[in-house]
Amino acid sequence: MSNLMISAMVDELPLAGAVVAVAASAGLGLTYAALSPTSQLFGRTILAGGDPNEAALTFDDGPNDVATDALLDVLARYNARATFFMIGRFVRERPEIVRRVHAAGHLIGNHTQTHPWLSFQSSRVIRQQLRECNHALEDTIGAPVRYFRPPHGARRPMVFQAARELGLKLVQWNAMGYDWRPIPAERILAHIDHGLARAQRQHKGANILLHDGHQQGIGVDRSASVQAVEELLRRFHREAVRPVTVDAWG
Ligand SMILES: [Zn+2]
Repeated sequence: MSNLMISAMVDELPLAGAVVAVAASAGLGLTYAALSPTSQLFGRTILAGGDPNEAALTFDDGPNDVATDALLDVLARYNARATFFMIGRFVRERPEIVRRVHAAGHLIGNHTQTHPWLSFQSSRVIRQQLRECNHALEDTIGAPVRYFRPPHGARRPMVFQAARELGLKLVQWNAMGYDWRPIPAERILAHIDHGLARAQRQHKGANILLHDGHQQGIGVDRSASVQAVEELLRRFHREAVRPVTVDAWG
């Protein structure tokens, strides 16, 4: 099966499905280690800190018209800071949104230039993807970028090496909203609750993966994700959970 076909197959599946699909087609246990968000086999990644009263809201695949600004409004109402992992080509198209995110005090990280599956790319392409996104971000906000989340969580030793060369720390997650598909806010919250409960059992903070954008283009509706975030922030406020950015953990 070609990489392209695998990529197309797993693109819309939840991560567990992606792991099964890729592992089945490649027949490699290593593929699981490269995709499982909690695997530390190939190098250290930031998951979450040891304080169960801390939660990081993280948003991937932006910047995106409407959704990113809507999130900034909600976050400002709760005086909360979040982490945005942005796609370089969208950063080049919407620098003004990126500058608003930065000016509001949120943390911005690298999510590659065009969002490929890094598991299937050459060393040259991996380095280029990380470098181009860093340049797009640093040209736009005038500040260094220190954090990187690989698209689909896919890692292999070369990804760690390319990240290290640029001084980037890899960031994964331990709770996710599965919101890359069009599902209502209640379902996004139910998925996140599952991750939050597991993090609590492990006495860990929560590193929550959500999406303000879409890898395929700018303009995708993310109102359900924004609504879910508003509900989460309301709850965090009530339960004295502190919203943090991922740099609190390493
Ligand atoms: Zn992504």
